[in-house]
This record gives sequence, structure tokens and C-alpha cells, in this order.
Amino acid sequence: MFVQKYMRLQFDRESEENYEEKRTRIGKPLMRANLAVERHASKIYTRAMFEQFGEILYECGAYQVEEIEKHKTYLAIHSEAEKREKWCRVSYMVTMIDGGDEFECECGQFAHMGLLCSHVLKVLDFIRAKEIPAKHIVKRWTKDARDVLPAHLAQY
Ligand SMILES: [Zn+2]
Repeated sequence: MFVQKYMRLQFDRESEENYEEKRTRIGKPLMRANLAVERHASKIYTRAMFEQFGEILYECGAYQVEEIEKHKTYLAIHSEAEKREKWCRVSYMVTMIDGGDEFECECGQFAHMGLLCSHVLKVLDFIRAKEIPAKHIVKRWTKDARDVLPAHLAQY
């Protein structure tokens, strides 16, 4: 009885833990923007993070980019700036670091959640980048996150 119960518990726990992994492995990610960075994101992120990424990517359709200084500073401007409420910010300065290895945006979303903001994504599209820069791929959101588990969990 005990063994049966134990195995049942083990099975339940594993199925929960593996749910996201299975979902990532089996289902085909839904591409909405048909952009190179989106295809790249679908290969690296888990399904849940890819869905979040897709929403941010969708938002970036509302922005236009103005190149202030080539390979250095860009301004992402909301296309319907005049229709937005006064308290709503309409433009964000994006700074390119090391020729595109890294980007910084005034909104600070990346530092906050580990996913690039729509402003940087828009700039990536503008400079025709095909991939998300390695420095902006936070391992815990990727399919390879399993090997960064702390030692006491790694055995599972
Ligand atoms: Zn931003």
C-alpha cells in the first residue's frame, strides 16, 4: 500500500513539474509576428515565456524607430502619440552597447523581468537583427534552465 501511494505521489509531482516541459516539447509555438527574432525566441524560451514574449512583440507594432545616432541611440516613439493620455509616456530612448551585444531602455523592463521590452525589440527589428542578443537571454526562462537548479534539487 505504502509503495503504491508513494509511487502515486511521485507520479503526481513529476507530472506537474514536467507539465511545462512537455508543453514546451510537444506543442508547436504560435508565431504571430513572423519575425526572425520571434523564431529565435521560440527555439530558446519555454512555452510560457514565449507566450509572454509574443505579447511584448505584439506591442512593439505600435512603435516607430528614429535613429538618433547610428549604432548608439534610438528613440522608440508610439505611433499614436497624440491619442495617448498625457500621463502616458510616448517615447523611450534605447541605447545600443558594444555594437549591439547589449541594449538599454529607459523603461527598465529587462532588469525587472528578464525579457526585452517592446522598445528594444522594435530597435532590433529596425537594425535587422535576427536573434535576441545572448546577454538578454535569461537562462531561467529558457528550455535549458534545468541544469541551473540548486544542488539539493538537482538530484530530482
Ligand atoms: Zn523599453
